[in-house]
Amino acid sequence: MTESPDPAGRRPGEETVTLGLGSNLGDRLASLRRGWAAVGALDGVRPLDCSGIWETAYVGPGGAQPPYLNACARIATVLAPRALLTALQRIERDCGRPPATHLRPRILDLDILLFGDRLVREPDLVIPHPRLRERAFVLEPLAELDPGLILPDSGLTVGAVRAIIRAAGGPPVRPLPGGTLAWDGNDG
Ligand code: AMP
Repeated sequence: MTESPDPAGRRPGEETVTLGLGSNLGDRLASLRRGWAAVGALDGVRPLDCSGIWETAYVGPGGAQPPYLNACARIATVLAPRALLTALQRIERDCGRPPATHLRPRILDLDILLFGDRLVREPDLVIPHPRLRERAFVLEPLAELDPGLILPDSGLTVGAVRAIIRAAGGPPVRPLPGGTLAWDGNDG
């Protein structure tokens, strides 16, 4: 018997995962690109698509920090959530991020935003990412990928949550002209 094709184009055993990428230290664009290339080269991962690059002022706790570049990207993977987290943390380190940089400027930050429709609630792994719904710098690039994507913890679409966050105001988030995760793109 032949399997019917998955409408999302996934292969058997794969799930679609959405990642958040960020950098606010060093050559930010190069770090994002290096990180995305390393993710795409992982065993058990197929890169699917990526957003443009967005720039935003840092507004979190812990004092002033340089502005961030952020992007979102999707992969298809046969890896389990924890195996993927471990692989992403290794890429962060390989790209020069020292340990214990929580709430401090970082060369590369790789977050699992969504893992199919899964809800994961573990002490060191929460999916959907706990701050996804508060962050314009995640919602804007995520909406570029798919504004109709439904967030499994709320049932709201990415576009609807983005509208709520836009209406609330907040720090400006602007697209980096021509910014792309692809090495052959125009840096703007
Ligand atoms: P950060 O310093 O912001 O990169 O946070 C890293 C910490 O967040 C790590 O200890 C992770 O175990 C934890 N964490 C919890 N949920 C996630 C997630 N969905 N993606 C990435 N890291 C996560």
